[in-house]
This record gives sequence, structure tokens and C-alpha cells, in this order.
Amino acid sequence: MTPLFPALTETPADRPALRFGERSLTYAQLAAAAGALTGRIGGATRVAVWATPTLETAVAVVAALLAGVPAVPLNPKSGEKELGHILADSAPGLVLTAPDDRLPAPLRDLTRVDVDPQATGPAPEDRAADEDPALIVYTSGTTGPPKGAVIPRRAVASTLDALADAWQWTGDDVLVHGLPLFHVHGLVLGTLGPLRRGGSVRHLGRFSTQGVARELNGGATMLFGVPTMYHRIAEAVTSDPQLVRALTGARLLVSGSAALPVHDHGRIATATGRRVIERYGMTETLMNTSVRADGEARPGTVGVPLPGVELRLVEEDGSEVTVYDGETVGEIQVRGPNLFTEYLNRPDATAAAFTADGWFRTGDMAVRDPDGYVRIVGRKATDLIKSGGYKIGAGEIENALLEHPGVREAAVTGEPDADLGERIVAWIVPADPQSPPALEELADHVALRLAPHKRPRVVHHLDALPRNDMGKIMKRALAHD
Ligand code: ATP
Ligand code: MG
Repeated sequence: MTPLFPALTETPADRPALRFGERSLTYAQLAAAAGALTGRIGGATRVAVWATPTLETAVAVVAALLAGVPAVPLNPKSGEKELGHILADSAPGLVLTAPDDRLPAPLRDLTRVDVDPQATGPAPEDRAADEDPALIVYTSGTTGPPKGAVIPRRAVASTLDALADAWQWTGDDVLVHGLPLFHVHGLVLGTLGPLRRGGSVRHLGRFSTQGVARELNGGATMLFGVPTMYHRIAEAVTSDPQLVRALTGARLLVSGSAALPVHDHGRIATATGRRVIERYGMTETLMNTSVRADGEARPGTVGVPLPGVELRLVEEDGSEVTVYDGETVGEIQVRGPNLFTEYLNRPDATAAAFTADGWFRTGDMAVRDPDGYVRIVGRKATDLIKSGGYKIGAGEIENALLEHPGVREAAVTGEPDADLGERIVAWIVPADPQSPPALEELADHVALRLAPHKRPRVVHHLDALPRNDMGKIMKRALAHD
């Protein structure tokens, strides 16, 4: 295949590639720094990368990919237990870090290699083959302990090229990035994506709406974010004209990693005239669907399958959903060049994840609109509530609750009920903690908007919802409260 990053050798040497805070690298500097590092990691079987949001992390991952050594990005905020699990599982020989990083105990036994973004070396050769593992990325751990997804180079290249097609993404794009680098969203899409196109990345270090406004008003063209970021943007647009100007002028605003609440989508559209487009993916599959840049960004939908990705909905009895009526729910299964190869050291989990004919079972439930747009209902394990003979998706109830002025954040779960099988439970962060909306009021609000059987039967008020580092709601933690 073509090299993963043709721009490293083909673009003008002074073209900007990466900027993290005050520090930046051109393509020529990146090629030299990565080239210097490949020489030091060449013999390793696997390398861990201490994935802080820095130039060092980006250089480390590019070097590992070019050297054909699988990289295992580590979340620097992980506790020692999680790090211990990931290190025991992935057994990297080396850890790549920035010189001033202080590493926690589980990492101190590894050989440490400090990354020097200023280093000079020969331009790196791209030595790996298509099916070689490029990355081992641990899933977010939303539904159980994180699993290491082995992601081949072929999947990285194909997903980035499919997104380029869907988003009309070119080397002229400049991405504003405020995401962590240890998951596929911030690493594969947000860092490797612009580098594969020959464009550039400006990382905010720490996300802020002011930073987004500054960069988009200063020449950046696209923003990738998770819903918690767009929530902050939706809150800020009412009082920040610079932010409104920035979003109005942006070429593309993309959300993913979790469902973007319809309420936030609407508030941003009202204030800026711009619609955030949603894409849907997973660690195991990279990207599956997206609204296209020239398509309709219908709120609550994640668009259509990306080029090369086959997608189907399968009902509980194994039959495929063939009517696209916006109502018939099935599990999303996907097949295509974007798929991972296996869960590391988990042949059982790998086997269970695939059908006999090679479809990957995502565990996500969805319906399709008549024109094929996919609407995610929620996860099979936590978001599908079986109540009174109905199958009810948590997502639409969460969206309805968020439309209530007294609700700042909402999550919905099911709990056992003698009559109904399961009853609907709402977990609410009230807008005003002094006067949280009462159950009756919320239940009527939902019943009026959706249907009477979708009203919550129990409401809990919380100061904050439990979320992981990607801002995903940890429903496991709610259920155990
Ligand atoms: P684990 O697999 O460890 O339980 P996780 O599934 O959260 O954690 P990831 O691979 O990071 O780990 O996340 C993929 C999941 O995120 C998808 O299966 C889906 O449930 C959710 N997701 C991603 N994008 C979207 C989106 N646009 N809308 C709704 N859900 C999304
Ligand atoms: Mg998952």
C-alpha cells in the first residue's frame, strides 16, 4: 500500500504539521524526529506510549507506525490498577515518554525512551505491511474492563480515507483538537488523520471554548469534539460573540464517541446557523458511519455507512431488519476494511464478537430512517429497557429530559420491577440544585413528548453524572449507586 503518511516526504518542508500549545513541528521536522526515534525502537515487539497531549506523543506514535512496531497508548490519568492490567496484558518492552514525565510505579520497570521532537535523523522508511498491527488501543471500559483492540495499518488507512471522502477532508484543513490521545478519536482521527492528508493539527492542551474560538478565528477549519465539549459550546454561544463568529466560519464541526444530545445540537444551530455533524465509531471498528459534509445533519442521527463499510441491523432472532421505518430496532453489525483483527489475549471475546460470516457485533442498537440514516438507540447491555412489553431506548428519553429547563444533565437506566419487568429510572443533574424538578413533572414532560409508557417511574438527583475521560456516562456506576 502507499505509505501511511506520504506528506512526510512529499510536502514542502516548512509546511506546519503539529502544534501543541506553544510548540510546533513542520513536516520536515516531524520526519526527522520520527526518523531519529525509529532507529531506537526498531527491534522492539511492542512499545507503550505515555499518551499525554503533547508533541512527544504524536512523534512517538508516528515513529512506531513507521517502524512497524505496534504502539500501545496509555492514559496518563489511569489508576495504577488499570495501568497494571494493561501492561500485564500488552507486555510492551519499552515506554516512550517526554523527558520531564514522571511515571507511576507500574511503568518504572520498563525501559524508558525519551522522545525528542527536535531530534534530527534520516527521513523514516515506512517498513510495515498492510495487515501488520499498528496500534493496540484499549476500549473505554464503559461496559466492562478495557479490552485491547489490535488495529492493523490497513484499518487506520482505510478509515481515514473513507472519512476524507465523507468530509471532503484535504491537506488544506487545519484541525482544532482538544481531545486526549489515548483513544482512537483523538489519536487516529485527530492526530493521524490530518497527518495522512498533509494538513495540520493545533492541539489546545486543555479544551476550552475560548481556545476553540481563538483557533477557528485564526485560520483553523475543523473541530472534532465529544458531546461534553459541544455541551459547553452550547452553553457558551449565548454570551460569546467570538465563539459564534468562529463556529459560523468553520468548515466542519464533528461530534463523536457518544450521542450528541439533540438539545445541544439545536442550541448550537440556533445561535450559529451551523449544524454539528455526527459520526459513529468504536475502538474495534474505527469509523462506521457519518453524516457527510454535503449531507443533511439530522439531529439524533449518525448518518450513513462510510465508503467500504457494510452495515446491517439484526434483530434478536437473528433476522436482518430490511424495513427502514425509523422504528424497527436491531443490533448494528459491521464488516469492512476498518475492522480490528482481535482482542489481545482474548480469543474467547474475539470469537464472541464476530458472526460466522465475519460481521462484527457492535453491541449498539439502532433504527434506520427511510433514507438509510442510522439512529442509535443505545447499547444493548445498558440502554435498552424492557418495560411493559416494550423495548425502550434510553437515548430518546434522555433527549426529552434534556429539553426540560430544570434539567442540566440526564441519564436513563432500567431497574427490575415486579409488574413491568423493568421500570425506567432517570438520573438528573438539576439546573438549579435548590429546586430540582419533581418526578411527576418530569414524567409528564416525557409522556407528552414521547409516549406514556416511556415516562420515568423513579428519579434520582445527582451533583454530577459519573463520566470517564472521554466524557462518556458510566451507567455501570449509576446502577451500583
Ligand atoms: P467498552 O467497550 O470498554 O465498554 P466503549 O464501548 O465506550 O467501552 P469505545 O470503543 O471508546 O469504548 O466506544 C465505542 C462506543 O461509543 C460505541 O460502541 C457506541 O456505543 C459509542 N458511540 C460512539 N460514537 C457514538 C455516537 N456518535 N453516538 C452514539 N454512541 C456513540
Ligand atoms: Mg465497546
